[in-house]
Amino acid sequence: MEHSKRVLLPQPIEAEAVEVLEKAGIEKIVATDPSPETVRPLLNNVQGVILRTGIKLTGELMDLAQELQVISRTGGGLDNVEVDAATKKNIIVTSNLGVNTSSVVEHALALMLALIKQIPTMDRAIRNEDFQIRYKNLPRDLRGKTLGLLGFGRIGSELGRSCRELFDMRVISHDPYVSETVRTACKDRVAFVEREELFGRSDVLSIHVPLTASTHHAVGEEALALMKPSAIIINTARGPIIDQTALFHALQKRKIAGAGLDVFEQEPVSGDNPLLGLDNIIMTPHSAALTKECVVRMAVEAVNCTLAVFNGRIPPNVANPHVLASDRWKHLVPAASR
Ligand code: NAD
Repeated sequence: MEHSKRVLLPQPIEAEAVEVLEKAGIEKIVATDPSPETVRPLLNNVQGVILRTGIKLTGELMDLAQELQVISRTGGGLDNVEVDAATKKNIIVTSNLGVNTSSVVEHALALMLALIKQIPTMDRAIRNEDFQIRYKNLPRDLRGKTLGLLGFGRIGSELGRSCRELFDMRVISHDPYVSETVRTACKDRVAFVEREELFGRSDVLSIHVPLTASTHHAVGEEALALMKPSAIIINTARGPIIDQTALFHALQKRKIAGAGLDVFEQEPVSGDNPLLGLDNIIMTPHSAALTKECVVRMAVEAVNCTLAVFNGRIPPNVANPHVLASDRWKHLVPAASR
């Protein structure tokens, strides 16, 4: 193992992960803030970048990092890395898929239950000395309802399993990329349906697709119009997958019953965002994966992916596997199973 490697942290990472870096003899450079202006001069002579969500690593920034070998995301999404630019420069991009699955599933469940049981409304009523609200029977049950999953990957499938086991929900999903093998294995537990059917039948629609050109505004006016007025929508994936203006109108006109959002088209959410004026929405600040336990798991895993490359091993979850065939990386050996 070489001991002269340098890793840039545009934002600090958890102490447990820093310890792993230090034990491996890696020098860390921590930016004082993740703005491109601050990060730009720090990219020279670094071989790794461990990336949270505070900055987009563009091709222009990569041009400044001539020695860069690996960009390791602490989270699952790759929307803040220009992966094509990295591929052109033979930079390995890894993400942290799976490590945050259980935390995001719990968060989606929390949003779902809080909405369906009207927890914020009930809490506000008590504080306003309205205990009688209990007789309005505002909460509903999940048992026997239909959960619709847009995306049946790690998080979607695990949420489906939880909802089926906990609440005996029917699970339907739209995900054209699910293999025939998975479809067959799940056929008694999940019905794979067309997009229109997903929106039309779901009592709870939960979004678990990545943000790509094809999923941008995948939930817009037309999709929302297909939904039942009693349905709720949960988004723990990425904000721009929902057309926020269309969602605002659907919620305001009660064309759907409610929304639970962890992610937004514009983050951070500004004080004049019209969603803030709605009473049938629950919001959390992109915090689904930011549990005390999960941030440690994600940061340590991101460090381990970086160290794998430095140690001549193929890290898990390479987003641009083509680069592994390049002269630069063909010496890498598969990582031992984790
Ligand atoms: P995953 O890659 O395991 O699953 C994504 C699924 O989406 C795949 O099965 C894929 O086939 C499907 N898909 C892709 N395009 C689709 C389309 N157009 N229509 C239908 N299905 C499509 O990812 P995951 O671990 O389940 O995570 C899902 C997303 O959640 C991530 O991409 C990330 O953006 C987001 N996420 C958010 C947080 C948070 O803190 N809120 C944390 C982790 C992940």
